[in-house]
Amino acid sequence: MQITRRRLLMSLGTLAASLKPPGLMAAPASLARFDFSEPHMGTMFKIVLYAPDPDLAAAASRAAFDRIAALDRIMSDYDETSELMRLCRAAGGPAVEISADLCRVMTAAQELSRRSDGAFDITVGPVVQLWRRARRRHELPEPDRLAAARGLVGYGNVHLDPKNQRAELRKPGMLLDLGGIAKGDAADQALLVLERYHITQALIAAAGDIATGDPPPGRDWEIGIETFESPALPPSRFIGLHDRAVSTSGDSEQHVEIGGVRYSHIVDPKTGMALTGRRSVTVTAPHGITADCYATALCVLGHERGLRLIRDTPGTAALITEEDSGAIHEYHLPNFLR
Ligand code: ADP
Ligand code: MG
Repeated sequence: MQITRRRLLMSLGTLAASLKPPGLMAAPASLARFDFSEPHMGTMFKIVLYAPDPDLAAAASRAAFDRIAALDRIMSDYDETSELMRLCRAAGGPAVEISADLCRVMTAAQELSRRSDGAFDITVGPVVQLWRRARRRHELPEPDRLAAARGLVGYGNVHLDPKNQRAELRKPGMLLDLGGIAKGDAADQALLVLERYHITQALIAAAGDIATGDPPPGRDWEIGIETFESPALPPSRFIGLHDRAVSTSGDSEQHVEIGGVRYSHIVDPKTGMALTGRRSVTVTAPHGITADCYATALCVLGHERGLRLIRDTPGTAALITEEDSGAIHEYHLPNFLR
């Protein structure tokens, strides 16, 4: 891991985790709270930080947002000129050199693909494209197109050489999608930028992906976890954390209902089908990159296999909420919401 800071971890939240106002505990006179937000990566990024003066806060947050924008230019699968899309165009050809940023994210993704037996798989691009079209048209993907797309999915066809920063996509037509991991990583990287400005009491939130540094004066960061609640309502549950990250995935506004069935924006790489059924997963982990991709993986795995993976992953915790025949069940190990 290139992130050297110790980040202990906790986690959590679903769709849009929301932040509680600072409450009664005032910051020492020398430190004030500053809030900034900007749209990046198709969502709103929020920065909350404590700094001794507004100029430092503004300069540091500007640099952090610039870093997020630069990462978006590398990782985006919406932008034909991104480094990711350039790599995809080289699919079927020899290995190409990649940036340290892309290499870090792809390495973490590949590791989770192996550990989750392919439940998380960044080669789902061709299948995700078909489901995005399905969402726009309110029509299920045609079976033969889905079968063809599925033939291009498989993390085993990605060959990474992190030492030499090179990657090879072994099948022409392969398409990578970092949508399940890039926001958590961007949150980590933004915190690192703030540290260069000696700002460590900070939180970065990209909708359901949140990374925190040191806590605000005298208290933890309080993060609301929404599972199946309407984002219009305040969350009913909060977790406190610092030097940790939390991500919520699953039951979001990003689904489509066709023929009375809800199809998620998360797909099962093995079948090419969008997930159906309601499930929300909140994962806490030492870093945002981990919380983000594990939350997505656990949506595919479900509570049994998902919690087994969490048990085998030091520093992580998870809360899984599933609906079964109208009843809502929650699953977690003892280390969640301790
Ligand atoms: P959100 O983007 O709402 O925060 P996630 O972090 O769970 O939610 O990421 C979902 C995105 O990840 C999808 O929109 C898609 O781009 C991508 N994706 C979908 N299914 C998978 C999968 N099985 N493995 C890896 N990435 C996936
Ligand atoms: Mg995710």
